[in-house]
Amino acid sequence: MVRAEQNSDDDERALSRLRELVRKKELKNSQVRERIARCALGYEGHFTVEDLARVLRAGGLRNAHPATVYRSIPLLMEAGLIQPAPAGPGETQRYERAFGRDHHDHLVCTRCGQLVEFHSPTLELLQEEIAKNYGFCLESHLHELRGTCSSCSRADGASAG
Ligand SMILES: [Zn+2]
Ligand SMILES: [Zn+2]
Repeated sequence: MVRAEQNSDDDERALSRLRELVRKKELKNSQVRERIARCALGYEGHFTVEDLARVLRAGGLRNAHPATVYRSIPLLMEAGLIQPAPAGPGETQRYERAFGRDHHDHLVCTRCGQLVEFHSPTLELLQEEIAKNYGFCLESHLHELRGTCSSCSRADGASAG
C-alpha cells in the first residue's frame, strides 16, 4: 500500500534532513536516492528492500534494483527517515518510516509474518525502571514479541478438526 500525498510538509522536512546529511558527508546528490527516500517515506507499513524496489519500478523508475535501494538504506536510517522493523519468515530485514512518527513496538507472527504495532506506556516506564536499576541510561530499545497471530491460530484449529 502506498500512501497518498498527505504529510507532504513532513516529507519535505525529512528530505531536507537527508540532503543535509549528504552535504555533510560530501556525497553526490542523487535523483535516484531522493526517489528512494520519497518512496520509503510514503510507504504505508513495513517494507523489505524488494518491496521498495517493486514500488519504484511500478512508479516508472525502471533501473530500481534491490541492490540500488539497499545501498541507500544506511543513509536513510542515519538521517532518521526510516528505522529497522522485524522481518517476516524467510525475510532478512524490514524497515518502516521513522520520521514524524511516535515510538511503537511490534508483535510478529512467525507463520505468516504479520506485524502488529503497539504502544504500552506501562512497558515503556518499566523499561526505564529496569535500565535505571542496572545503572543504564536508556537510548533506545527494540521489542519484538514473536508468536502466532489469531488467523494462523484459527487456521491451525480448523485443520485439527
Ligand atoms: Zn499469522
Ligand atoms: Zn512498525
